[in-house]
Amino acid sequence: MTISKKSLQEIGEFGLIDRIKNWMGLPSPEVLRGIGDDVAVIHQGKKALLVTTDILIEDIHFERSWVDPYRLGRKALAVNLSDIAAMGGVPKYFLIAMGLPKNLSLPFVSLLYQGLKAEAKRFQVDLIGGDTSLSQRIMINVCLIGEGISKTLLYRNGAKIGDDLYVSGTLGDSALGLKLLQDKRIKRKPKRLIEKHLLPRPRIELGQALAKNRFASAMIDVSDGLIGDTFHLLRESRVGARIWKECIPLSRSYRKWVQTYSEDPYELAQAGGEDYELLFTASPRKRKEIFSLSRSLQISISRIGEIVKATEGFHFLSKDGESISIDRMGYDHFKSLP
Ligand code: ADP
Ligand code: MG
Repeated sequence: MTISKKSLQEIGEFGLIDRIKNWMGLPSPEVLRGIGDDVAVIHQGKKALLVTTDILIEDIHFERSWVDPYRLGRKALAVNLSDIAAMGGVPKYFLIAMGLPKNLSLPFVSLLYQGLKAEAKRFQVDLIGGDTSLSQRIMINVCLIGEGISKTLLYRNGAKIGDDLYVSGTLGDSALGLKLLQDKRIKRKPKRLIEKHLLPRPRIELGQALAKNRFASAMIDVSDGLIGDTFHLLRESRVGARIWKECIPLSRSYRKWVQTYSEDPYELAQAGGEDYELLFTASPRKRKEIFSLSRSLQISISRIGEIVKATEGFHFLSKDGESISIDRMGYDHFKSLP
């Protein structure tokens, strides 16, 4: 086997994951989903075991100067819960592995665990172990285990031509919140946007309802941004999509503050990551049920586009007739390095 000498920056995070998948080969047959979905799914009769892991690294995902340890603890669990939400699963247990600098204060770690405990209590998950090591920067890796009913789980690969495309909540708030956190010029920062970045709310209840009622055909959580995550869903489903730009849901606070950074308010909502909303597809026959679910859960859901043939590609359409073809991914860890 010859391995090209390209750098990670050249191949990108997803180019690397594709190669890892090839290097490791196929897993055993009881692994229903391995590399390539929001969580790994393992056959257990009618039930399925769900496993996912996500890491938060100081100065990559957060800076000690603007995050408090309590929210950091909550977020470390929340980003994993969001992946279970994206399958329509039930989270159960988690392990936490941490790298900690030796000068870190005990109250910092204690508050971090208070945050973890609060999030764990809210979503009824138990800490069952972990690992601790010395490190130069704070690293927090959570591995979350859950379960689901095999037949109802929602994968990235179920989207059909003619399906509607939906997203929960609003987009761009977290990316704008991050910009505002980093902006030293702004003294009084808008709480709602900052909060959405520091403390995402995993859409567990919505994910489960969509799966249980079989309303959706495919689902993913929006962690890399609308463009990137739509791309992942389209790639796995082997279809294309049209998104109506003006249908992308924006919050009032976002509309107000985004003007500080960009003329086109939709740009950041399209490309920015970490909203942890659910992006899903469903047959047009399910429209009524989906909107009534949205009302009963009091979670806004917007129909933002439609699934088309793969040969038609992926486009954003505007009211003024503009059509932008998308051929780039969303947030990529290695490509975003300077
Ligand atoms: P998400 O954004 O939903 O957390 P990722 O984009 O991080 O998903 O990962 C996509 C897929 O690649 C997942 O199935 C994940 O488990 C897998 N993956 C990511 N990094 C690695 C790695 N270093 N080795 C093996 N699999 C990986
Ligand atoms: Mg995900």
